[in-house]
Amino acid sequence: MPTPNLSVIIPVYNEEAGLQALFDRLYPALDALRIPYEAVFINDGSTDRSAALLRAQFEKRPEVTRIVLLNGNYGQHMAIMAGFEQCRGDRVVTLDADLQNPPEEIGKLLAAMDEGHDYVGTVRQNRQDSTWRRWASRLMNRLRERITRIHMTDQGCMLRAYDRRIVRAIASCREVNTFIPALAYTFSAHPAEVAVRHEERAAGESKYSLYSLVRLNFDLVTGFSVIPLQLFSLLGMVLSLLSGLFVVYLFIRRLVVGPEAEGLFTLFAITFFLISILLFGIGLLGEYVGRIYQQVRDRPRFLIEAILEAPHEDTENA
Ligand code: UDP
Ligand code: MG
Repeated sequence: MPTPNLSVIIPVYNEEAGLQALFDRLYPALDALRIPYEAVFINDGSTDRSAALLRAQFEKRPEVTRIVLLNGNYGQHMAIMAGFEQCRGDRVVTLDADLQNPPEEIGKLLAAMDEGHDYVGTVRQNRQDSTWRRWASRLMNRLRERITRIHMTDQGCMLRAYDRRIVRAIASCREVNTFIPALAYTFSAHPAEVAVRHEERAAGESKYSLYSLVRLNFDLVTGFSVIPLQLFSLLGMVLSLLSGLFVVYLFIRRLVVGPEAEGLFTLFAITFFLISILLFGIGLLGEYVGRIYQQVRDRPRFLIEAILEAPHEDTENA
């Protein structure tokens, strides 16, 4: 197999009903690009015949097909991560197995990369998903825009293209729960977005339940922002300030007017004050936990785009 220009990564989890349709469209679309490519399928612990179908496809087109079989179900993003570790192409495109992202659109992404972009995201035109999914996505997109530094119009679409350097950076992240398009964004110097078509699932059903969608969005929010943790310290700070003033006010009032309801309010004020100190303490803990968390994720802290320096002379060999 020559070194491919393009690796297409496709996570597969119980997709037996749609795999043949995928092969029938994917390979002609890739052949039409006329560049050396590899299609890398990651079987994410399917319990149906998906693995056997992938094996058969490998035998049919071994020169451009690679199959990675995981021993269990690790989720879409970890499956893609496994693909990132294995792929050999200079450019890497991720794609869903259910044909919701038309493989014929890959050329459009590559054209954007030709213009110098190292990461090409996509925006789905006429998204073909249930109304509540579209509504929930819009909400999550907005929340993410506010609390992280990641700007994507459509975070959910997995048809994306990545430069090899970004793929390597992502694969070097050791974290277990992550959201690959967002991670790529943090490493990208020149991201771009293109509009792509979106189709209904060719066969089978969505592998995401409401619960796993909620989990995925937690990964996105907590993986890229410690604001949820830090909110506590802000809240604690404001509350302790307010209740501190309240204590002072009641103290003065007591001296001037005398105790009200036998000092019950004073007691309240003191309790509020203590509670807010407690909240602040939790928030402060959160600040430290947040830092520990960022540290243990062990992401590369930066990526160097280039180094400009005079060629240095090796004096020993001179
Ligand atoms: N997928 C996977 N592991 C999982 C869940 C999904 O590899 O645990 C794959 C699935 O086979 C498909 C892609 O991830 O290729 C997207 O899944 P799906 O189409 O069910 O998600 P949706 O389009 O509903 O968001
Ligand atoms: Mg889908």
